[in-house]
Amino acid sequence: MIARFPARRFDGARRFPNAVQRPGFLLVMDVIVIGGGLTGVTTAYQLRAAGHRVCVIEQHATVAQEASFGQGGLVLPTPLDVWFGPGLSFGLRQMLFGSRSGMIYQPGLSAVARSFVRHLNVEREPERFAQQCVRLRPLVELSRRLLSETEARHAMEFEQREGVLHLFRSPRELKQAAAGLSLLQQFDYPHQVLDPDGCRTIEPSVPKIEALAGGVFFPYERSANCPLFTKQLKTLLEENEVQFALGRRALSFKLESERVVVHLAPDQEGASSKTTRTETIAGDALVIAAGAGSQPLLKEAGLRVPLYPVRVHALTAPIGYEEHAPHMTVVDYESRVTISRLHNRMRFASAPLVQAQRKTFRPTEPKLRERALETLGQAGHTWVPGAAKLSALRDWDGITLMSPDGLPVTGATAHPRLFINAGHGPGGWGLACGTAKVVADLVSGQPAELDADSLAAISPARFSVGGPHTSRSDHR
Ligand SMILES: Cc1cc2nc3c(=O)[nH]c(=O)nc-3n(C[C@H](O)[C@H](O)[C@H](O)COP(=O)(O)OP(=O)(O)OC[C@H]3O[C@@H](n4cnc5c(N)ncnc54)[C@H](O)[C@@H]3O)c2cc1C
Repeated sequence: MIARFPARRFDGARRFPNAVQRPGFLLVMDVIVIGGGLTGVTTAYQLRAAGHRVCVIEQHATVAQEASFGQGGLVLPTPLDVWFGPGLSFGLRQMLFGSRSGMIYQPGLSAVARSFVRHLNVEREPERFAQQCVRLRPLVELSRRLLSETEARHAMEFEQREGVLHLFRSPRELKQAAAGLSLLQQFDYPHQVLDPDGCRTIEPSVPKIEALAGGVFFPYERSANCPLFTKQLKTLLEENEVQFALGRRALSFKLESERVVVHLAPDQEGASSKTTRTETIAGDALVIAAGAGSQPLLKEAGLRVPLYPVRVHALTAPIGYEEHAPHMTVVDYESRVTISRLHNRMRFASAPLVQAQRKTFRPTEPKLRERALETLGQAGHTWVPGAAKLSALRDWDGITLMSPDGLPVTGATAHPRLFINAGHGPGGWGLACGTAKVVADLVSGQPAELDADSLAAISPARFSVGGPHTSRSDHR
């Protein structure tokens, strides 16, 4: 038995219905969340807030060690930030000559990579782009509200900084952004379109260079420290009886009509072995929120969700010269490089690499890695020269899962005990609190806060994934 898990809550002998009816309240269930990144921890938060007993399984010794660790800091996304639409293209040109958009596309012979990109390119069509943004918007607004409520309720400080400035290098880029800009108007998104002087007035660290054609300023959008937020939330959850099985990797799971059982890999070397640990955890429902680790788990269960792993890069350094450091987050619109100031550090993030899946999960080829880091360095050199102490630059990269239509994969599956919350792509933070609530409401059988169209747009069912049904009791 895992000593930290009260046996009466998570032992394999429990039988359905083990949910407890609270007077005037929903059924209280034992819910297992696989993944201790931003998505898993916010999901645990919403499940706990709904009254459930929750256990988070995380393979690392603490939370936020993968994509949520080197996250660029932006808490968005606006229609200018999403990674689909007219501003983004992958194709032969990008493959042969590289891309001004900062994307590195090297599919090799991988038909799956090419098919993913073909689908993503469909989203470039302006009408389709507008439609997807309209569907995504309620989720972004829900996330925004829930994040503010969580911050206010617990008086959280995680290096939040207001103001985001997108910079455009040419009139051509501004033209490319037209569809996004018109959506900002349509959504009544607080923003200002600025000429080069206006950009420098708002953010004096932006240098006087010819390459600046203008900018869009979001006064209320923010950047912040994602791993810090996730860790603070974990502490709060532990104080509220959420169990964290840290240093434990979920190998597979078994869905039964009356319960779900997660099988764990044997204890990691070096982990405390003072307590005897069980190799399984059983509960009433399971949420897969394991970031890039979601795919193998879903495959085991017979679910073919077309999520694609994309490697994203980051450079971090202490501030070099304070007078050159920006006060707000600056985004190079074309290369999508985010330049954020996190307390006394500068972070440059983006440079996504799309290649064959098996290559993505291996160390990146040095020349591709160099190219990615060069993209980040160039954006920093152009927009905030002197801001970072270059001698102390540290690079990092992580994998984020993207869906072929750019939206996350969040919701119920054909099996009533299995839920997915993954594929948030490069806009994970701006969506995490909202998708967590969607899952918590579904698990609890509560009415959704999102409209039916938005829910359908993020549901796993949109890919007709089929998958496990109650009758298939063993998916190991
Ligand atoms: C360099 C970079 C910059 C980014 N910049 C931004 C940004 O500025 N703004 C933004 O919104 N988004 C950004 N993103 C994307 C954002 O980081 C992700 O969308 C978000 O962090 C995803 O969180 P997650 O919890 O789903 O995944 P992760 O943070 O990867 O968490 C998944 C967790 O599951 C665990 N896990 C996996 N498999 C198992 C298993 N079998 N058993 C147990 N545990 C398991 C992993 O150890 C990990 O901790 C960026 C991503 C990267 C890589």
